[in-house]
Amino acid sequence: MSSFELIGKKEPLENIKAGIASGRLSHAVLLSGEKGVGKKFFSKHIIKMLVCQNKNKPCGICAQCQKIDKDIHPDVFNIFPAGKSETIGVKEIAPIKASINIKPNDADFKFFIINEAERMNKYAQNAILKMIEEPPEDSIFILTSQNSQALLATVLSRVTKIALGPAEKEEIEAFLKKNYSDFSNEEIKEAAKNSGGNIGTAISLLQNEQEREILKDSQTVAINIIEKDRALLNLSLGKYSKQKTLAQNLVNNVKQIYREAYFALAEKDSITEVALKISQRLSLKAILGIIDSCDRFSENLSRNVGLSLALTAFEIECANIIDNK
Ligand SMILES: [Zn+2]
Repeated sequence: MSSFELIGKKEPLENIKAGIASGRLSHAVLLSGEKGVGKKFFSKHIIKMLVCQNKNKPCGICAQCQKIDKDIHPDVFNIFPAGKSETIGVKEIAPIKASINIKPNDADFKFFIINEAERMNKYAQNAILKMIEEPPEDSIFILTSQNSQALLATVLSRVTKIALGPAEKEEIEAFLKKNYSDFSNEEIKEAAKNSGGNIGTAISLLQNEQEREILKDSQTVAINIIEKDRALLNLSLGKYSKQKTLAQNLVNNVKQIYREAYFALAEKDSITEVALKISQRLSLKAILGIIDSCDRFSENLSRNVGLSLALTAFEIECANIIDNK
C-alpha cells in the first residue's frame, strides 16, 4: 500500500483481492467517487492485479504492469465522453462492440473502462447492459462515475459497486509529510484539513498557492454570507471582479462548502469546520438556496453576463436567502 492513491481504499481493495482470489471477480465493476479521489488509479490497480506476471501482484515493474501504467496495454480500452455535449453515445462505445468477441492479445482478459459512465446516453447504456448481462469470460468492464445515480437502474443492478470514499485527515497528512517534505508542517496540516479527504485536492492545495488563497477566500465568503455582513461580503467578492476563472473557482468552492453543510445536516456526514458552522446556523432550504445561487452564478458567466454584474447578483441572492432563512 505504498502509492498515495490507495490511501483510504483498504476496504475496496480487500474486496477486489478476495474476488480475484476466489475467481469470482465480477465482470462489471462500478467505481464511484468524486473527482480526484483516485478512480483512474484504482481501476489501473485492479487491472494490474489481474495481468501482473509476478507473485506479489501488482509488482509495478513487469512488462504487463508497465504497459498498464503507461496506458499502452493492447487489451485495455478506454472510453471517454466526446463531442460538444460530452456524452458517451453508441459511437463512443463502438470499439467495445468491435473487440468484445475477439481474444485478448497479451493478457488473459480484455478490459473496457468507461470513464464518467454517467455521461452515457440511454442507447449506450442499453448497449452496455446487453454486454454485461452475458459477458464473454475474458471481458471485464470497469465503469467509473462521479454520479452513479444517473445510471439506469438496470445497469446499476448488474454491476458490483465500489465506492471510493474520502481518506482520513491523518492518513493524508502522513502521506504529504513523507512525499512533500519541502513544505512546512503548518502548510501540510492546512492542506490536509481543507482537502475534504481528497488526496488530489490536498496535493494541489499544497502545490498551488493561488488555489490555497482562493480556498481561504471562499471560506471567508461562505462565512460572510451567514454573518449577514454585506460590506465584508462585497469586499471579499470584489477582489475577484476582474478575474473570471478565479471568480468561478471561488464560487465553486463556496458551493462545495454549502454542499458539505447540506450533507452534514441531511446525512450527518463528517465535514470541515466552515461547513459545520454553516450547518449549525442555516436550514436545509437556505443551504440549497445558496447552492442554487452558486449554480446561477456559473450559468451567468457561461452566458457571458459581465463578471461584476454576476458577482453582484450572487451577493444579493445570498443576502436575500439569509434574510429569509
Ligand atoms: Zn507486475
